[in-house]
Amino acid sequence: MPRQFFVGGNFKMNGNIDSIKSIVSHLNDAKCDPNTEIVIAPPALYLLLAREHLRSGIEVAAQNVFDKPNGAFTGEISVTQLKDSNITWTLLGHSERRVVLQESDAFVAKKTSAAIDGGIGVILCCGETLEQREANKTIEVVTSQLSAVAKEVKDWSKIVVAYEPIWAIGTGKVASAAQAQEVHAAIRKWMGEELGGEAQEKTRIIYGGSVSEKNCGELAKEGDIDGFLVGGASLKPAFVDIINARS
Ligand code: PEP
Repeated sequence: MPRQFFVGGNFKMNGNIDSIKSIVSHLNDAKCDPNTEIVIAPPALYLLLAREHLRSGIEVAAQNVFDKPNGAFTGEISVTQLKDSNITWTLLGHSERRVVLQESDAFVAKKTSAAIDGGIGVILCCGETLEQREANKTIEVVTSQLSAVAKEVKDWSKIVVAYEPIWAIGTGKVASAAQAQEVHAAIRKWMGEELGGEAQEKTRIIYGGSVSEKNCGELAKEGDIDGFLVGGASLKPAFVDIINARS
């Protein structure tokens, strides 16, 4: 069975009520490839607004979730609260949280475990810095980020791995199709060794980092690129061209 193409839109800390309504209405009206699974991740404040206005068939993701079910954790949102609001996915381990907010591999793993146990899908981000790439450490860095999660989570059926080289995020510097494919293939090999044949075959590995309507077609031709996590371009009408990259 081929893996279903998956495209996520990470709005980051962008948008307001009007602009998010307008993106949602554009997506509702657009001709989107029915074979692409589509998930958008607006800021927390607008999750319910997006869910309320989006057509069925497009899912909504949080950009983060906490690992405790409730209690005195100011500013955090729990898996239970996401479920209560019909938010079915969350991003975790985005490099902006790993770098700016100092989230460790172990913390990302704990949150991934809480989300999966609670029945929420996880778009699990990993990726290397430019220095790490230049020191030939890309595969080591990415697999050690994933290994931390593998220690906590055995069932990867609701995880989509997003390989996002940090040097390509928001920079306009996209990884070449060959560079991305090389890392995706290495992640898939790691999955076979650490998670077993089923996870290796079925887990979607998507690419993120300056994906646009111009470069998505080339990237989507690679055998181990099962979709995209899109930042900046997910706020623009051209997001639909990325959703349709395989059409
Ligand atoms: C992201 O934030 O996950 C991302 C890939 O951003 P951009 O597409 O803007 O590089």
